[in-house]
Amino acid sequence: MPAAIADVLKRMIDGGGRVCVLTGAGMSAESGIPTFRGTHDSLWSRFDPMRLATAEAWREDPALVWGWYRWRMQLVRDAQPNAGHKALAELARRVPLSLVTQNVDDLHERAGSTVDAHVHGSLFALRCFACGQAHDGPLDDYVEGQQKVAPMRCTACGDAIRPGVVWFGEALPDDAWSAAVDAAERCMLVLVVGTSGLVYPAAGLPALARRHGATVVEINPEPTALSADADHVWRSTAAQALPQLLAI
Ligand SMILES: [Zn+2]
Repeated sequence: MPAAIADVLKRMIDGGGRVCVLTGAGMSAESGIPTFRGTHDSLWSRFDPMRLATAEAWREDPALVWGWYRWRMQLVRDAQPNAGHKALAELARRVPLSLVTQNVDDLHERAGSTVDAHVHGSLFALRCFACGQAHDGPLDDYVEGQQKVAPMRCTACGDAIRPGVVWFGEALPDDAWSAAVDAAERCMLVLVVGTSGLVYPAAGLPALARRHGATVVEINPEPTALSADADHVWRSTAAQALPQLLAI
């Protein structure tokens, strides 16, 4: 770990300051969850995710869009939290910590973390496309290789059940976004982990925290759009870097 980052962390922990962790796709990459654009699976490689993750695509062909999400859900179900997820859960037992994620998987929760804000929604928070009623029943069976899957139906109105993610063109969920802003404004330190910093408004959270006096540390193997505005950068992956925080 860079010495400057160890110093910042130690001062913050000794002072009882709150940490805000913002995680993105890089956080789950080491669990084998492909990034949104990095899908090379032959079944789906000819489809553009940006054209599937929209309300328009859903209206046009809900079975195709549900089939894609059902496949992605299965990838997540088959994946396991990595050492980085587990380290964050442990860190939250030691210091006041808010966890904000752009990821729609549930790997933080399965590692034992409480997620304060899923700013881009959650794959498994299913709800009715028409009336919004939450779907609490079991997930339909996954059939390997099946591309079109008829969505489950809402018990209240009979319309189709959609995934709980934020699609392109949709607003972020109000409660998640408020929680994320609150976490950014109240913390003394922001750890930005595995996010490219390209997707707004989530990418604006580190700058917001900085305006409120927080120190920003980026943990990412590659330079990103956020690197220039970080106080410290640590070129490492989530699973490599985060367990080292527990040694401080
Ligand atoms: Zn409904």
